[in-house]
Amino acid sequence: MITREDCGRRDETDELAALREWFTLPDGVVYLDGNSLGPVSRGVRRRVDEVLDGEWATGLVRSWNSAGWMTMPTRLGDQVAPLIGARPGEVLVADSLTILLAKLIGGALALRPERHVVLTDARNFHSDLYIARAMAARAGHPVEVRAIDRSALADELGPEVALVVLTHVDFRTGEMLDLVGITAAVHACGALLLWDLAHSAGAVPLDVTAANVDFAAGCGYKYLNAGPGSPAFLYVRRSWQGVLENPLPGWLGHARPFGFESTYETAPGVRAFLTSSPPVLALAAMEGALEVFRHVTLEQLRAKSLALTDLFIGLVEERLAGEFEIVTPREHDRRASQVSLRHPESDAIVRALIERGVIGDFRDPDISRFGFAPLYLRYVDVFDAVEQMVAVIEGEEYRDARVVVRDPVT
Ligand SMILES: *Cc1c(COP(=O)(O)O)cnc(C)c1O
Repeated sequence: MITREDCGRRDETDELAALREWFTLPDGVVYLDGNSLGPVSRGVRRRVDEVLDGEWATGLVRSWNSAGWMTMPTRLGDQVAPLIGARPGEVLVADSLTILLAKLIGGALALRPERHVVLTDARNFHSDLYIARAMAARAGHPVEVRAIDRSALADELGPEVALVVLTHVDFRTGEMLDLVGITAAVHACGALLLWDLAHSAGAVPLDVTAANVDFAAGCGYKYLNAGPGSPAFLYVRRSWQGVLENPLPGWLGHARPFGFESTYETAPGVRAFLTSSPPVLALAAMEGALEVFRHVTLEQLRAKSLALTDLFIGLVEERLAGEFEIVTPREHDRRASQVSLRHPESDAIVRALIERGVIGDFRDPDISRFGFAPLYLRYVDVFDAVEQMVAVIEGEEYRDARVVVRDPVT
């Protein structure tokens, strides 16, 4: 039997425990949805206030120069870089994730005009599927998108494959793919690979350099805690810079934006992937959000994340035996920082849990999804969450009329 006291003792010896103080979390809430929207941190407040009062209010338009607003996309990119194992100058913060995927897919397809297939995972996030098909249709040569069963990837790879688009961590199941092995297999067939790191960045250590990843992109508002709808990041390996073209050119990706020239000339480096003016307030939030990551190593985060998810799985097995199917892999090297449980009443269970202050989310058709962000979660939070789950299941609270109506955002 795992007790609440056991969990409390683990919190006392947790070397990351003090980081929780960086975050504002409502009283009485166990927040298991940081994989969907990370909470606000004091870094965000400090930096946003600074930009509002110290830069915008006083410097006005001068702040584009004096406060370094114009260089924020690359400056923040260099701050994200160590989180994914990239080198300085390889990461850019801009746009939303779907837009960055469009840029990378469009650019990559132009590099392999003699090949006509894009492989992706049939269970990929829907936005990734939509944008892959849309960019393939606009490639300028016939390109077919094949949404495959990812376990059959090795069989599907061939000389006709131009690009493979995969998400490293499955948003539904939490399964983590073998980034190194898959990248090598894709390269062996001469294709390019674009990794979506939406559920990886800030949650699991990554080394895109060692894995020889071509292109990647990830989310700002999930484990990076940069705020609702925050900009995303892209990675273009140095050897592809100057080769890969941005299919959505705009003035900020021009070599001389303030030359106001009528013909386009691509900026050097990763700046080529900019299109428009940097969203300074949103970037300020992201810059502040990244501060906390300087006080912890990715290895420390990973160790605590695995300890939290192991504890949760253990408690669910102990106290809710037979109620849920645990769909997230048990093996550490196949698990990221979330645990997904299958139950036919998941939708209502998640809402009943939210009423009890345990915030997770529901993913169609039957997944209760719980994210375990090691920056601010305590071991007792995991214990308390499972206690509330027991109450919801034993009391059949998911049958209550007030939880059976679904909200527009789940
Ligand atoms: C969250 C997520 C997205 C959506 O990103 P936007 O910034 O809203 O475009 C896309 N793909 C995956 C895999 C995601 O998890």
